Amino acid sequence: MVQTKIRPKYRRQYGVIPYGLSSTGKIILPKEANPQEPYQCPECKGKLILRLSKLKKPYFSHYPGEKRKCKLNYSSIALAKHVLRFVLDQWMRGKGDPVEVQLFCGERHEIPRDEINEIKLNQRIRFHQKRRYLSHLSLLDRYGQSILHIELREKSRVHHVKHPSWLEVASEEILSNPYLLSSLNPYMNTPYFLNPAPQQLSLF
Ligand SMILES: [Zn+2]
Repeated sequence: MVQTKIRPKYRRQYGVIPYGLSSTGKIILPKEANPQEPYQCPECKGKLILRLSKLKKPYFSHYPGEKRKCKLNYSSIALAKHVLRFVLDQWMRGKGDPVEVQLFCGERHEIPRDEINEIKLNQRIRFHQKRRYLSHLSLLDRYGQSILHIELREKSRVHHVKHPSWLEVASEEILSNPYLLSSLNPYMNTPYFLNPAPQQLSLF
């Protein structure tokens, strides 16, 4: 599949590898990383080296032999996936700004922090016993159920996924603002977890 190049401004903003994974799987930014610790690339799982730029800014780099096979070198989808994962992870931990979902018709909903228990990457989802679709990021609730599937696209699908929790978003838009997920899918409904629970009506 041909993938468009990542714009230089997003390279400058997020780096080639926006974060590394610690030996316990924690998301670590280059500025928080310890040069004595090993880190793994979140995309290709290759070992990372912590380097310093000319301006003494730390950044992660692949080992020379591992560099070519990693999608973070060329795919705006791969970069947007990890930028969004970082932002959602921060939000789940009570740091950073909320992430909003904007439906195809325009309504916006903040993702409630307490509803998400886990984020899974690259889930193959089968609908209607037929096709499998790739969910780049799936948000799971405390029971391990997927409550939102996020598919990053360079271009909108010709045939949208007819599923109410399938959020299709443009990778360029995520790179420009990862706090707003604008749905390209007219078949997506407001997922139940985006609506605040209705108050129980008291009869007395
Ligand atoms: Zn990599």
